Amino acid sequence: MASGAELLRKVKEQIEEVDPREVHELTHNGNGAVIVDVREQHEFEQSHLPGALHVPRAHLETRIEGAVGDRSQRVILYCASGNRSAFAAQTLQDLLGYEDVASMRGGITLWKDRGYEVEVPRALTAEQRERYSRHMLVPEIGLEGQMKLLDAKVLLLGAGGLGSPAALYLAAAGVGTIGLVDDDVVDLSNLQRQIAHTNDRIGVPKVDSAEISIHDINPDVKVEKHPVRLGPANIMEIIDGYDVVVDGLDNFPTRYLLNDASVRKQIPVVSASILGFEGQLSVFHPYEGPCYRCLYPTPPPAELAPSCGAAGVLGVLPGVMGLLQSVEVIKLVTGAGETMAGRLLLYDALGTTFTELKVRRDPDCPICSREPGEISDEEMGVFPDYEAFCAGAG
Ligand SMILES: [Zn+2]
Repeated sequence: MASGAELLRKVKEQIEEVDPREVHELTHNGNGAVIVDVREQHEFEQSHLPGALHVPRAHLETRIEGAVGDRSQRVILYCASGNRSAFAAQTLQDLLGYEDVASMRGGITLWKDRGYEVEVPRALTAEQRERYSRHMLVPEIGLEGQMKLLDAKVLLLGAGGLGSPAALYLAAAGVGTIGLVDDDVVDLSNLQRQIAHTNDRIGVPKVDSAEISIHDINPDVKVEKHPVRLGPANIMEIIDGYDVVVDGLDNFPTRYLLNDASVRKQIPVVSASILGFEGQLSVFHPYEGPCYRCLYPTPPPAELAPSCGAAGVLGVLPGVMGLLQSVEVIKLVTGAGETMAGRLLLYDALGTTFTELKVRRDPDCPICSREPGEISDEEMGVFPDYEAFCAGAG
């Protein structure tokens, strides 16, 4: 049996070791090598080499392909002192078939001794660390994803049935800035489903009421209130600077307007609609997937248009759909998983069925077949025969 020290010496004979100076030159010339830190999470978070990827040695075999897909790529591994990275290099080379692997001699300790710079990542406060601890444990989110959520600006159009659950869960998840657009006040008939509002806030503007609920859950969240009706005159200014828009609108004219403005601004929209026991969900990601007009070149049939009059809805249905929207928001912000872009989800609550339809970009789409700069103010939100369509709904 070899001792640990003997084993290490043997491993180091079988792999290539490089000096920090060489790695430093490489990173400065931007010359194609991938630098991978194989230390533990807490070590990586303290400081790491600029631009280094993080694949802890304990997860090396399962995660390296996600970080470095090309086995012919030059990969330089490092740890604290050069021992763990030597073992990791051997694994990559001998067991996983990576062709051009090296371990950095002396690790980040020698790197720092030489006076080379390190990156000190932004850290969460102790309270944030605890608050988001369950996110930290999800590999697809982790610290990096949580930082993205904290930096994210998400705009909710409507603080009603869909906007309420989205506001509460996105606040809880740590979305840093939540914008609310709603010009309405809380009404008793809203409380059957609009759970961001409460009995004692009847008569209060919905943006103020929702802000209270958001801050009760997470005082960290910055709330931007827009107590206005969205229209052609203000939409470009209101959606400006947001990373994602959550469409909880209740009428078709504004949906078309939102679509055209979001394509011009290239902001993805997570859209949902509800009627009775049925919900629909999709993501309209400008130029990466179809837009709302690709799906609905003209408004849906009048009997499916709740915008033309008061329509009934099962109280919990906007909860289901608003939360599905929130999941899409988190995926768009963190980059985890596959969004609903290019897909339309139909949820029938009575039969408990989820149906998925493919939606393709329309090469002749009046809006997204063109460059953002070619779409004029005058054509935003314009679509055929709205008057006739609403009249038909009786
Ligand atoms: Zn389109």
